[in-house]
Amino acid sequence: MPNLPIPRYISHLHGTKPGPRVVVFGGTHGDETTGVEVIRTILQSLGLDSDVPSGSHKFSFVNGDLFLGIGNPEAVAKDTRSLSGIRDLNRCFHEQFFSDPKEMELSDQKRAAELKDILASVNYFFDLHSVSTDRTVPFIGLTTFTKEHARVCKFFPVSYILNVHSILGRDVGIDDRNFEQAPTTCSWVNRHGGTGLAYEMGFQKDFSSTPRALQIILHVLKEIGSIDDGFIQKIGVTIDPSITKKTEQHVFRLIFCERNKFKNFQYSDDRYTESWLPVKNGELVGTYADGEEVRTASDGLLVFQAGKQTLGINPSIFYLAVPEYE
Ligand SMILES: [Zn+2]
Repeated sequence: MPNLPIPRYISHLHGTKPGPRVVVFGGTHGDETTGVEVIRTILQSLGLDSDVPSGSHKFSFVNGDLFLGIGNPEAVAKDTRSLSGIRDLNRCFHEQFFSDPKEMELSDQKRAAELKDILASVNYFFDLHSVSTDRTVPFIGLTTFTKEHARVCKFFPVSYILNVHSILGRDVGIDDRNFEQAPTTCSWVNRHGGTGLAYEMGFQKDFSSTPRALQIILHVLKEIGSIDDGFIQKIGVTIDPSITKKTEQHVFRLIFCERNKFKNFQYSDDRYTESWLPVKNGELVGTYADGEEVRTASDGLLVFQAGKQTLGINPSIFYLAVPEYE
């Protein structure tokens, strides 16, 4: 087991029995604080500092090593997606950035450097995210879909699994010839032998999503052998039966990103803010103030739409997904 220093804002829970090495983060995107709430609830229930998670703590109901914490604490404090406004933490995990002193000056990149070794050392990583549109259901985002990803996804009661491949790397200028080079936390974990995925909990301002997400994370941690029932009892939650029963799952692939030209975009209809909305090629999603139309470039499903409140800052308007296996 690698003996690595624990990064800031991370608590290490270690067990008395062997088990997997697992990391769970909330707040990789600083304005997605519902995930932070899940982490804080767990730490609080264990009697640990939930504002500044830290230290190494032994629990008999933990197996192996479980690291819980806040991805980008300074961005969380400011309630912004990233600190720099240039590249958020979930676009920093690439050798191209870590090896460039100029890139390393970015505050978000510095945080990535603090986290990269621990993420490279884990068996499992779960990144708790949420989206900016209030018309969504929870889903899983990942950058590769191995057998182990498929196995772990089954523990989540979600219908939609979205393989983002390298598309998100294009946001920050990374060559997409190698699809496993996305600069995300999860991709970094995958590239170093772990199994990483993002759980998109729902709308970023909808804190009513946190009790269920908490139950789901506890259920998943138990299924992968990271925690025992005693842990769940200590947190004081009962897992809803709808979480443990198998959900039919569909895997989609991200194929296209509509960039935001920041010219006061307006949706042509509210329904275009609905995640997983099936669309046909050429549908008018909306119009910029200067009259330029934004239409879908192919058939597919709309995902990761900019919520109306984020249209002024979100670098993308929407993404298009298609079924992975057609
Ligand atoms: Zn996010």
